[in-house]
Amino acid sequence: MGKDKFTITFWGVRGGYPMPGPTTVKYGGNTTCIEVVAGDQRIIIDCGTGLIKLGHKMMQEHFATGRPIHATMLLTHTHHDHTQGLPFFVPTRHPASTLHIFGPMLVTESLEDVLDRAMSPPVFPLGKEELASQRFLEYVLTGDTLVLPEWGAPPEQYHLGHDPGAIPPDAVTIDVNHGYHHPKSGILFFRIAYHGRKVVIATDTEGYIGGDRKLIGFARGADLLVHDAEYTEEEYLGPPLIRQGWGHSTWRMATEVAEAAGVKLLALTHHNPAHNDEALERMLAQAQTRFHYTILAREGETIEVK
Ligand SMILES: [Zn+2]
Ligand SMILES: [Zn+2]
Repeated sequence: MGKDKFTITFWGVRGGYPMPGPTTVKYGGNTTCIEVVAGDQRIIIDCGTGLIKLGHKMMQEHFATGRPIHATMLLTHTHHDHTQGLPFFVPTRHPASTLHIFGPMLVTESLEDVLDRAMSPPVFPLGKEELASQRFLEYVLTGDTLVLPEWGAPPEQYHLGHDPGAIPPDAVTIDVNHGYHHPKSGILFFRIAYHGRKVVIATDTEGYIGGDRKLIGFARGADLLVHDAEYTEEEYLGPPLIRQGWGHSTWRMATEVAEAAGVKLLALTHHNPAHNDEALERMLAQAQTRFHYTILAREGETIEVK
């Protein structure tokens, strides 16, 4: 594969909170973390507890090759299940690491303050001044494009347009979109493109009747759409709890987007911690009757984007 390599690996697929144990052993218990490798560049989407194991792998690679660690990290939002792995992400403590982190503008306080709060004494033994890595934190907004020109070079950030002709052929591009339907600051969607192929990440999103048209446009023709499918239809409608407005989708909402956008493959993710492996497979069977090319995101699985 080499230069043309474009893969996605699920390091955490669970929403809400971790759920390890025998009932989730097939699809995994760690919270959201996805690794995309495009050529020799690494992009990490979300920093749930799945990130911890990825961090150990990155350190092992560094010790085996001596090559510095470079990663572009994207946060869809700052809820625990998308950030809780960050304090335990070993590359942040190592001087060989350069991490470019991009996340949302929040309603209540700065992104930096929120991330610092989760990894500072007294809730964490180390303060950020004790971390030896180089870290750069930036906001991204709807309409932004990040261009990753080559391994080791810092990402370039464009707002509302860039000249596609000026993008090097081996660059990775990341387009950003925003959804309003996740409490309280909404959610960022990411479209990662490399060598003519594209992957769209749409977790923690809630559908609309007939599908989310903005997301459908953003995901049009994608080779892979990774979409939230936290609920069965019965759970979404209740009783006892009514989960409308909680910012998550049913499997049917995910398939509506996939079908209308004409994606090649749909991966359901953000698995409900209350859903064991059998429950997930029942949802998958239902989803496949609606959109045949559907799979369940599974912790540890790598998919080649063709
Ligand atoms: Zn979540
Ligand atoms: Zn959330």
